[in-house]
Amino acid sequence: MTPRNLTILGATGTIGVNTLDVVARHPDKFQVIALTGQNQIEKLAEQCRRFRPRYAVVLEADRGGALQALLAGTQTEVLVGMAALEFVSALPEVDSVMAAIVGAAGLRPALAAARAGKRVLLANKETLVMAGRFFMEAVRLHGATLLPIDSEHNAIFQSLPAGYDGDLARHGVRRILLTASGGPFRTRAVETLKDVTPEQAVAHPNWVMGKKISVDSASMMNKGLEVIEAHWLFNARPQQIEVVIHPQSIVHSMVEYLDGSVLAQLSNPDMRTPIAHSLAYPERVEAGVNWLDLAKIGQLTFEAPDFARFPCLKLAYQTLEVGGAAPAILNAANEVAVAAFLDRRIPYLGIAASLEAMLGRLSGLPAESLEDLMAADATARREAEVLIAHAEA
Ligand code: NAD
Ligand code: MG
Repeated sequence: MTPRNLTILGATGTIGVNTLDVVARHPDKFQVIALTGQNQIEKLAEQCRRFRPRYAVVLEADRGGALQALLAGTQTEVLVGMAALEFVSALPEVDSVMAAIVGAAGLRPALAAARAGKRVLLANKETLVMAGRFFMEAVRLHGATLLPIDSEHNAIFQSLPAGYDGDLARHGVRRILLTASGGPFRTRAVETLKDVTPEQAVAHPNWVMGKKISVDSASMMNKGLEVIEAHWLFNARPQQIEVVIHPQSIVHSMVEYLDGSVLAQLSNPDMRTPIAHSLAYPERVEAGVNWLDLAKIGQLTFEAPDFARFPCLKLAYQTLEVGGAAPAILNAANEVAVAAFLDRRIPYLGIAASLEAMLGRLSGLPAESLEDLMAADATARREAEVLIAHAEA
């Protein structure tokens, strides 16, 4: 494999750190050209000293100054701002961009990578939830290669025929089976969900992840966002995507074919597997993960999701039926609600309630262009803040 040059957006996060772990195992195959981060400047500086990228990017000027001071005397040039994030995503010398910023902030740089025809390793699911139509259009128009990092979508990608082109029917696919762990509240008594604390919500049984996605896993909003993500990635109608609860998180998702065959991808729950898959695709490299010991795991179980327990999952399906700006509104309102929940400003059940209220009010916003969707995102954030402040008062 000719060495690949990488930009890692969100290098200091969980996905970013796991990506660098895989990269470090194969110094002959991967070279880091740019790293970006937001809050953990010391950590970013440390990563830069170790991986010697040409550029390091942060969003704000004062952080840029601090990073510059930490990197004095090194080869790494510090850049600041959203335009710089877009710049390092489209550099001619970069062939692969790991899009692992969390939240809507990840959209513009991921889009810049797609428009530059890169291999886009997409972890930032919010890009597809907010603007799936426009992102997929950019991928097609500019000949980018899209490789899903989200473990479920990576599993589906691996279980679909090579060269899958967005036509499920032509490839004899009946359904996509999206697995979900069910999170920490799968069996908790429903009447006690009102008392859920942030600590309980972020304590995921199988995965170590950022806080926001951990809360989303507890509410199953994460699975809802992933249904929307699968819709855009694989051109699947909502009825063709079925969520199956699988508490062991070993089967990462499946594809069912017309002849009754179901193909699955299995591995230990370690994000380095989908990351290594996408970094090396179509080749394979070691990821540093433990080998799967099925005899030791013993049992793989499956159950249907309970929509009453997980109303966010149902709301996500509904936004796909409504279409337009609805998924973007869901995503934006959810980011605000989750942050408020983590700050103890609203109760756990307030997350779903505020999403429902925002969708009821704003689903009709225009969605004809990317700008429309960004505006819908901004409106939903603002209105969700108002709603939450009102509830507090
Ligand atoms: P994280 O919170 O651990 O890391 C987020 C990264 O983005 C950090 O480097 C942070 O500095 C950067 N960042 C945050 N806000 C930013 C902003 N406004 N502008 C620029 N950079 C910013 O998150 P994570 O768990 O690594 O998740 C990253 C993305 O991958 C998310 O979209 C998440 O949904 C997706 N994802 C994560 C996992 C997982 O296992 N962690 C699995 C599947 C998908
Ligand atoms: Mg996932």
